[in-house]
Amino acid sequence: MTRAGKAIIPDAMSDLTESIATPEQRSPDTEASSSVNKLSADASFDTAERGPSIYADAPSSVSFNKLRKRLIRNTRQAIEDFSMLAPNGLHAGKPRRWLVALSGGKDSYGLLALLMDLQWRGMLPVELIACNLDQGQPNFPKHVLPDYLSTLGVAHRIEYRDTYSVVTDKVPEGGTYCALCSRLRRGHLYRIAREEGCEALVLGHHRDDILETFFLNFFHGGRLAAMPPKLLNDEGDVMVFRPLALCAEEDLARFAEAMKFPIIPCDLCGSQDGLQRNAMKAMIGEIERRMPGRKDSMIRALGHARPSHLLDRSLFDFASLSPDSEKAQP
Ligand code: SF4
Repeated sequence: MTRAGKAIIPDAMSDLTESIATPEQRSPDTEASSSVNKLSADASFDTAERGPSIYADAPSSVSFNKLRKRLIRNTRQAIEDFSMLAPNGLHAGKPRRWLVALSGGKDSYGLLALLMDLQWRGMLPVELIACNLDQGQPNFPKHVLPDYLSTLGVAHRIEYRDTYSVVTDKVPEGGTYCALCSRLRRGHLYRIAREEGCEALVLGHHRDDILETFFLNFFHGGRLAAMPPKLLNDEGDVMVFRPLALCAEEDLARFAEAMKFPIIPCDLCGSQDGLQRNAMKAMIGEIERRMPGRKDSMIRALGHARPSHLLDRSLFDFASLSPDSEKAQP
């Protein structure tokens, strides 16, 4: 594994603290001075010192800076809302360390860049280790990720495990590989997180992935469930975080293009994640096209469940509900 240190610049940190505060977080006093702080926050993006190494060749345009700020704001909000920096008993007293899963796709590169950005601004007191699991897919370009990460001085670990052969051996002809492939990959990533002393495995799933999963479960799984932004693995020793849970896929795609990440194609294995997910993606995309803003509305709805207005008797005590019941409906 390669390790590298990173600089933290307190001035930039204080500027961005204001620039990415959500409206709910702002006090009236803060609002009063926000225009001044906003200006200095904007200025901090245009200085020669543009951020951590991964931003070395990033554009300096206003539109890119706006996109970057929006992604940072959304990422930081998810980290706060879902308490990803809450005390972790198992790792108490040790330096916090996260294993950032890097597949070579646009989302995982974006995840790494945004976490490095927050870290550089002093908002993420966590050591990051980028990790790629080379699963032995035919024609996987082995040199791309290590070359990129080494050039940037990013701490990383690349591990080769031929899960591709296992999957092609076990899955019957015509079946999709993804379920078994992901399970095997996840097991190795948990192991690597343990070996590296990481409290969490960090994944690049975003808002659109969460919505697609919700509708997959809704239409095909018979349950109301999406993808958790924070969960504990079955063994109970590694957390899984999804800090991009509030980031739009479209923003991440534009970000990846502007940052010129060396993307590795995701179809090397010859399998895709099934027709059903693609159908959900198309359906949600069509809804958004006809009624812009619905994706944001849907992701907000997932954070406002009302058990008394659903049909799950394990979540709400319908039997005890009566005129003399003192219990207010949640
Ligand atoms: S697309 Fe390929 S690499 Fe990705 S989960 Fe499916 S089988 Fe695995």
